[in-house]
Amino acid sequence: MVPIRNMLVPENKYGIKCPYAMTATRIIVHNTANDASAENEALYMARNNNEASFHVVIDDKEVIRCIPFTRNSWNAGDGNGVGNRQGIAIEICYSKSGGERFIQAEKNAAEYIAMLLKSYGWGIDKVTKHQDYSGKYCPHRTLDMGWQRFLDMVAAYMGEEAPRPVPTPVPSTKEIDAFYRVRTQKHGWLPEVCNLTDYAGWEDSPITDVAIGVSHGSVKYRVHVMGGDWLPWVTGYNINDIVNGYAGNGKVIDAIEVYFYTPDDIRPFKKAEYRVAPVGGGYYAFQYDSETTNGQDGYAGLFGKAIGKFQLTIE
Ligand SMILES: [Zn+2]
Repeated sequence: MVPIRNMLVPENKYGIKCPYAMTATRIIVHNTANDASAENEALYMARNNNEASFHVVIDDKEVIRCIPFTRNSWNAGDGNGVGNRQGIAIEICYSKSGGERFIQAEKNAAEYIAMLLKSYGWGIDKVTKHQDYSGKYCPHRTLDMGWQRFLDMVAAYMGEEAPRPVPTPVPSTKEIDAFYRVRTQKHGWLPEVCNLTDYAGWEDSPITDVAIGVSHGSVKYRVHVMGGDWLPWVTGYNINDIVNGYAGNGKVIDAIEVYFYTPDDIRPFKKAEYRVAPVGGGYYAFQYDSETTNGQDGYAGLFGKAIGKFQLTIE
């Protein structure tokens, strides 16, 4: 845990910054949408006369407490609602530009929040986001990177597994569904994606491995290692099977090739439609491959460009 210190707002500012006594019932996570350090955020908040405040601000180096948890803060944009009157507001620094400082600040926040939860005897359900109270898209970068991912981090620091939201099964109207997951250099295996409802990947981290399955029929697929070769074809879908369950060897990939084999009971023939986007870039055109002549028989990707996103459907 990084150092925790107090820079409490002066009592003559209580009327502006934290006028009410508070019994905390929750934690509210924010991103500063700024590139200032925790110290500068704390100084700025204490100095100005805006009815805007927070309890704690965290950067990559330290945790600074600004308002006692026994007083309220004006953080949630919900007037005298539970956000402003019962929430411990935590700001995470450097969200404007992101990068390593933000990643570290977010980790520090997750660890600190885990500690707070334990000290209050609270579960992970007490961790809320600014967005829950006023609809403001905050904590913006944490949301962009995945709220469940952040909760998982907090839970990991608590030594528990976060309860995952139960996915609502969407009845697919498609004859054949494609399922896929990717592993990224920074974030490990990501959750499964079905068809084009989402994409697999994380915009800030290259993909290293891909696993693909289909509800009917079969696939074969392979990946190309950046600066290397095509790896062997695989046909399975199981991230615990390193031989035939996914394509990849943990190194960054720059191309993917997928074939779909239409089962005998389905005609006309279907094909795998898939595309990739390089890290930090937009999608290249869809690629179509099948065992029949309606495929382009190519691959998705550009040699030398690490892949950041992948999408697949069977059409
Ligand atoms: Zn906020």
